[in-house]
Amino acid sequence: MVEMSDKEKYKFKRELEEIKEQSGRGTELISLYIPPDKRISDVVAYLRNEYSQSSNIKSKGTRKNVTAAIESILSKLKYFKAPPANGLAIFVGHIVASANQTTMVSFILEPADPIVTFLYRCDSQFYTLPLEEMLTEKENYGLLVIDRSEATIGILKGKRVEPIKNVQSLVPSKHSKGGQSARRFERLIEIAAHDYFKKIGGLVNGAFLNEKDMMGIIVGGPGATKEYFVKGEYIHHELKKKIIDTFDTGYTNEYGLRELVENATSALANLDLIREKKLIQRFLNEIRKEDGGLAAYGEDNVRHALKIGAVDVLLLSEELRKLRIKRKCENCDYSTIESYEGYVDESPIKCPKCQSSLVIIEKTDIIDEFYNMADEVGTSVELISTESEEGDLFLRAFDGFAGILRFKVGAKR
Ligand code: ZN
Repeated sequence: MVEMSDKEKYKFKRELEEIKEQSGRGTELISLYIPPDKRISDVVAYLRNEYSQSSNIKSKGTRKNVTAAIESILSKLKYFKAPPANGLAIFVGHIVASANQTTMVSFILEPADPIVTFLYRCDSQFYTLPLEEMLTEKENYGLLVIDRSEATIGILKGKRVEPIKNVQSLVPSKHSKGGQSARRFERLIEIAAHDYFKKIGGLVNGAFLNEKDMMGIIVGGPGATKEYFVKGEYIHHELKKKIIDTFDTGYTNEYGLRELVENATSALANLDLIREKKLIQRFLNEIRKEDGGLAAYGEDNVRHALKIGAVDVLLLSEELRKLRIKRKCENCDYSTIESYEGYVDESPIKCPKCQSSLVIIEKTDIIDEFYNMADEVGTSVELISTESEEGDLFLRAFDGFAGILRFKVGAKR
């Protein structure tokens, strides 16, 4: 599995949004999902069959558009000997452009995760659900269920629980057998338990330390052992920081892993939101300070602070739908750069300097623009959803731009 960065995730999300927005006049938009192990020749044969089937379509317009879309896909497939590593998702069809006009659009995506099932669908909308699901399956959590007799380590990938290792302990139960000194027996138990915990700690480190983008670790088990283990010096300090919480489970085997995920579900669902809320609160705490604190907000102020390297953490609302547009005169050196929200009239504007025309030479999604600037100065970027009250306030009251600053900056004049 290839992990997408937040930025890639955002781009993928926007692309899906665009694909989803399209609609055809009839049932004439084709979505095609090709898994990596599917032979292109089989796909071609499938499409040829669909092509001949489409002669049954009653509406002449729809029939024409469907066959044109299939032809277009067939010609695209000529460039592939085999599907790419994760397969292909292809969307082709005639969309409604104006009252009596349609225009053909096509999108080809190579997803970050393998496409599992071959799918051909012809509808009035493109079918994007399998790709949307990939976005939510990106979150990994480390899992551990433990008591004194058994432990199981696993990973939660999206909704899938993958067991990694099950260990039975050799720690004797606390019921002393007759004949032995009870005290000596206690001591032996404690030594055995310590060795057992050390072993589990080593296995946990081995399984989780190199796991990239692990959002956190959750620990379960029936008794107090899990808390004891978590508090002890058994696991790496970097991993300790990632422990989200402990939960009671009845089992410590593979079934216990599933139990653990079930019991932790609501805690996990809130995790992203809690993180976002904390960031917004940190920002709000700054601006509440009498001297304005270490904060900047609003598009222009944040852009300025970012450019001079003053921003430590950049907060951007995920719902920003703005474009940064650069125009340049065809004749002289006059140029403009402005942000637009919504519809952009792309026709040339008169140059105020020489009366010639200003034309668009660059069009950038504003989140991309800010991401790129942040990359240059080593600022970390946090995308804030509008799913929490704070995130919603952030978009409405602060235009969705804020920076938590490294040092104070005068507002841009
Ligand atoms: Zn000019």
